[in-house]
Amino acid sequence: MKTTIQIDITKTQVSRLQETDFNNLVFGKTISDHMFVADYVDGEWTDLRIEPYAPLLLNPSNATLHYGQSIFEGMKAYKNEEGEILLFRADANQKRLNESARRMCIPEVPEEIFMEGLMTLLDLDRSWIPNKPGYSLYIRPFVFATDDYIGVRPSEKYKFMIFTCPVGNYYSKPVAVKVEQKYTRAIEGGTGQAKAAGNYAGSLYPALLAQKEGYDQLLWTDGKTHQFIEESGTMNVMFMINDTLITAPTHTGTILKGITRDSVLTLAKEMGYGVEERFLSVTELEKAVVEGKLQDAFGTGTAATIAHIFKININGQDYLLPEKPSNAFSNQVLKTLDDIKYGKKEDNHGWIIKF
Ligand code: PMP
Repeated sequence: MKTTIQIDITKTQVSRLQETDFNNLVFGKTISDHMFVADYVDGEWTDLRIEPYAPLLLNPSNATLHYGQSIFEGMKAYKNEEGEILLFRADANQKRLNESARRMCIPEVPEEIFMEGLMTLLDLDRSWIPNKPGYSLYIRPFVFATDDYIGVRPSEKYKFMIFTCPVGNYYSKPVAVKVEQKYTRAIEGGTGQAKAAGNYAGSLYPALLAQKEGYDQLLWTDGKTHQFIEESGTMNVMFMINDTLITAPTHTGTILKGITRDSVLTLAKEMGYGVEERFLSVTELEKAVVEGKLQDAFGTGTAATIAHIFKININGQDYLLPEKPSNAFSNQVLKTLDDIKYGKKEDNHGWIIKF
């Protein structure tokens, strides 16, 4: 691969490829051989390199460990039958990483460092990308503070890193969700729109409570009134009512601008469905369920692409949703997206980089 920036590459002496069981991949547990690293020192990103995946040496006074000045991204690469890599919408992830960076006082990562670092890494670990249907390579770019200083202020030094994990299907089964009206994921003026570490830490406890009651995910509501649906776990959430796809808007700054969300909305419009980016109230959702008007309900996100919802708990009442026919919107859009990602359908949106 040709790069315009200098990336030093140290290859692993002992690849873990042979000992990896690609038939039993647990999401996020198997990490590919190499990682990309860049250091931010004296106001610039330097020392761009690819190294064998290995533990980091951190001081106990590392700023991230205390104050969580840390952001990340998640995206995927696929392989077609010819063995070519298809990278899905990485440019959107690069932009979103920098939106998160601005909110968290973290220096932005220039596009060429992000893209060339990523593509060089993928090229090197090409054999780690499974080429089975439903399988892919999950990519985790992240930036975190590296000052050894426990005063509360933006760090002066950072690390930008990327590692990758071969993965199978994230959710093989439809999910049960519970409308959460006590705890809050994000509030206007907060950090909900940033993919910041602390947002995820704060959501663990309420999610755990729901899991103990038998639900897979929460349906987060707005932090002020808890009357309007925002997201589902670590996914955006969409509902089809009267052939209109409804999902929460992102202008409040409380919702992550999902790249799958954007892709699904784009395809829905092209397929002739109505699309409404507006807040759906819990009452309206319950009414649609009771009257049998909820045609489809699903989460969207990189890990699962589409996670069908089969049960919703609203105000303590469980509602079972009818099984979706294969021509349901969620199934159609999942198939279209998969076909684009695996190179079986023409990419006429410019979403794929193939190499
Ligand atoms: N919301 C939250 C809070 C998330 O963590 C994610 C996963 N990145 C999403 C939505 C979905 O975003 P995307 O489609 O870009 O994966």
